[in-house]
Amino acid sequence: MTALSSWDLMAGPAGTRPVLSGRPRNAKVLILGAGISGLALGYELSRLGYDFHVLEARDRVGGLVWTVHGGTTHTEIGGEHQQCTWDEGLWLNAGAWRIPYTHTGVLNYCKELGVPLEIFVNEADASYFYREGADAGSLANTRVRLGEVKADIVGQVNELLVKAIDQHSLDLPLTAEDQERLVGFLVAQGYLDRKDRRYRAFADRGPGDPYQLSALLKAGFGDRLRSISPRDGITTAPMFHPVGGMEQIPKAFARAIGPSRITFNAEVHSVRQDDHAATVAYRDTKTGRTRTLTADYVVVCLPLSIVAGLDCQLSAEMMAAVRATTYSNSAKAGLGMKRRFWEEDDQIFGGHLYSNLPIGEFSYPSTGYFSRKGVLLGFYLHSGPAVTLMDRPIGERVEHVLTHSSKVHPQMRREFESAYCVWWRKVEYSRGGFANAAPLARRAQLSKFENRLLIGSAATAPHSEPDWQEGAIAAAWQALTSLHEHAMRS
Ligand SMILES: Cc1cc2nc3c(=O)[nH]c(=O)nc-3n(C[C@H](O)[C@H](O)[C@H](O)COP(=O)(O)OP(=O)(O)OC[C@H]3O[C@@H](n4cnc5c(N)ncnc54)[C@H](O)[C@@H]3O)c2cc1C
Repeated sequence: MTALSSWDLMAGPAGTRPVLSGRPRNAKVLILGAGISGLALGYELSRLGYDFHVLEARDRVGGLVWTVHGGTTHTEIGGEHQQCTWDEGLWLNAGAWRIPYTHTGVLNYCKELGVPLEIFVNEADASYFYREGADAGSLANTRVRLGEVKADIVGQVNELLVKAIDQHSLDLPLTAEDQERLVGFLVAQGYLDRKDRRYRAFADRGPGDPYQLSALLKAGFGDRLRSISPRDGITTAPMFHPVGGMEQIPKAFARAIGPSRITFNAEVHSVRQDDHAATVAYRDTKTGRTRTLTADYVVVCLPLSIVAGLDCQLSAEMMAAVRATTYSNSAKAGLGMKRRFWEEDDQIFGGHLYSNLPIGEFSYPSTGYFSRKGVLLGFYLHSGPAVTLMDRPIGERVEHVLTHSSKVHPQMRREFESAYCVWWRKVEYSRGGFANAAPLARRAQLSKFENRLLIGSAATAPHSEPDWQEGAIAAAWQALTSLHEHAMRS
């Protein structure tokens, strides 16, 4: 085993990387599934010198970590076949797409495996707010830049505070000197005029008069503003993503494990066990032939939505917990664009559109700046009425996204080239998006060793991160510790 670095000892949301030693005598392990959980487990077992093998139904590693680029194909369950036609170098992460700086488990593996990372821009001041409907008040159907919202809200609030301090109408436990310093801070932070301490439009805010504070609040534009970014979640900063797409992480794991350790196109359909061994039956999807493999232990790193439909010799309590686990109804649409008009015309470099349009998250690429073409994330939703759109033909989904996004970017139709849509519920071998966090009691049940079998996919994560790769790492570490203790005892 290589020495542990300070990163290994850092407790992120996945906890601390297990420090294990010893090599059990009889411990042949089969890992089912080459998603992040199965790969992280395999990597750690290889460091401990275990005899293990991974069975993966697809012809690629990564599972929900899937980067779509030119040539990518898939057929939706009961639906259409798609082939991505984007130019070389263009891509979209259809599943996992960003890593908060707090996710030290996955970031440490990137460092160790040599996966180059770049900043994922979560916030760009040039990006727009846009709200439709009467509820948005006088700013309905108006594009307002994030930078304008920040400047105008902070500027006008600071002006009010300075006025209140000047009129001695704030009950502050501050000395006269402190009050003077506070006023100085409010003037500088809010870009107030230094002489009359009023807020007016200023050069760095961009052209045009400030929007009224009441109108900005009514439109709900202030809802997203925070003094600092939270440590975890979708608005954390900084965030990272691998250069060339999230698939670089599973690919790096697979390289480190070695190609002979993974069998692709191996669709597992049954897992049986007795007191001495576990037997896995799988179908080779290339030849249609069924094969069996026997091992001392089997770690099931499959989505539980898949496990629920397998012939799996687990207890009734375990299968009840498996069936009770739910997965997100996530869908994404990537739009290949002939021209990076959001950069050239609007000076938007990464970040998101903040709208109430029925397209969910709409995001600009944090890569390939100043090149000719680019891929926009045109639609990213998990719930709400717009998800029903996913049942419509691909052409209708794309038309929906173009219609709505054109309200903010009139260039959309002119610059659109081709789209690729992924609805995870209809993707074979996933049948759902990320695992929704389960109650603690269910997670405790799911992590129990049952004779020769153990579940190790993200849904079993001991902390509350099953919807991130960090959760898959946490689940893998939990399974690793449990497996190693068990194997060393036997
Ligand atoms: C839309 C979306 C956005 C996300 N965004 C982020 C994000 O920004 N950042 C982040 O960190 N995480 C994100 N996640 C979550 C993250 O992708 C998952 O938590 C993590 O990848 C789960 O890994 P896993 O190994 O548990 O499962 P999976 O990735 O589902 O891997 C399971 C593996 O089992 C294989 N398999 C299935 N059936 C069989 C079978 N019968 N036989 C053999 N093999 C089989 C599958 O092909 C797959 O390779 C996102 C997920 C989704 C869906």
